[in-house]
Amino acid sequence: MTDARIEIDLESFRHNVRTLSTLVAPARTMLAVKANAYGHGMVPLARAALESGADSLAVLEVPAACELRRNGITSQLFAWLHGPHTDFAEAIDHDVDLGVSALWQLAAITAATHAKPARVHLKIDTGLHRNGARPEDWPGLVSAAVAAQRAGSLTIEGIWSHLADASPEEDAAALARFRRAVDVATSLGCTAPLLHLAASSAGIREPDARLGLVRFGIAAYGISPFDDQTATELGLRQVMAMRAPVVEVETGVARVGVGSGDGIQTAAIGHAHVAIGGSRYPILGIEIDSLTVDVANSAVSVGDEVTIFGPGDRGEATAEHWAVWAGTVGDEIVARASERLPRVYLDASPVTVR
Ligand SMILES: *Cc1c(COP(=O)(O)O)cnc(C)c1O
Repeated sequence: MTDARIEIDLESFRHNVRTLSTLVAPARTMLAVKANAYGHGMVPLARAALESGADSLAVLEVPAACELRRNGITSQLFAWLHGPHTDFAEAIDHDVDLGVSALWQLAAITAATHAKPARVHLKIDTGLHRNGARPEDWPGLVSAAVAAQRAGSLTIEGIWSHLADASPEEDAAALARFRRAVDVATSLGCTAPLLHLAASSAGIREPDARLGLVRFGIAAYGISPFDDQTATELGLRQVMAMRAPVVEVETGVARVGVGSGDGIQTAAIGHAHVAIGGSRYPILGIEIDSLTVDVANSAVSVGDEVTIFGPGDRGEATAEHWAVWAGTVGDEIVARASERLPRVYLDASPVTVR
């Protein structure tokens, strides 16, 4: 009997990264491997991304970027979520590009520089209101960064923002605000080489928003950022599958060895089904460590392999289906998959990482 596990298909991931980076070229592709690569495992996915068309990586915080460096990743790395205890000196030592949205961050970064200048990307808030300098604070931030660049303590590598992906109209308005902020920065002597704004959604559907670089996340993991188009329709393949064995069968009910404690969303009950041998069976109940499935009148036995979700090519539900059933987004389905489940990387030679 095989154990409950998470399978990560690295070839599917490479296919997605190639597809997306080709789509947006000549814009560059930065791959978001934040949140442990959306639950897929940061280091193996970072390596696979760089092998297949991405030329830089994004994480949330400096420690994750430094972990990538310790694992031998030499590409451009970008981290933008900083707190009062962020170790900027370590970030600068490791050549981590830093998103900067406030004067306090700029001050802490310049105070931390010694041997070499910090690499910063100034962030303007274009409407999401999730950090980023407000328009009224933007000229002050830019002027301080330009002065620090002249003093040799940093280089301004880019100007960036993040779209809310609310509607095409709102994204277009945000893009216009972004362009105005870039003009303001230029007038203040900032000649930033790289402009970036788009994540998966705008990167795919809004060519005007691709600018110098697209920061792809969820689409690269084979989950559509859209409600009206599946990953398969976009030519992308879901990378993660969750599989577990039948551990018990009693009067038409099979018990399967994964549950809500492994990241299965109880809100999906009433809609959700699993696949066993290519056929679908409705889920009856979800407990912390197991779930029960209605297998009445079928030849399901202990040890049979159950697919909770996967790429969808063998009758199983996808993470997109689970997101609809649970009233959430596909990111939540894969990123919540428990760290307790071993990740099995499918590649030329499969490797298990506990
Ligand atoms: C998560 C994130 C991305 C990737 O977003 P997706 O919608 O998953 O493609 C890009 N940029 C920033 C700043 C992010 O936080």
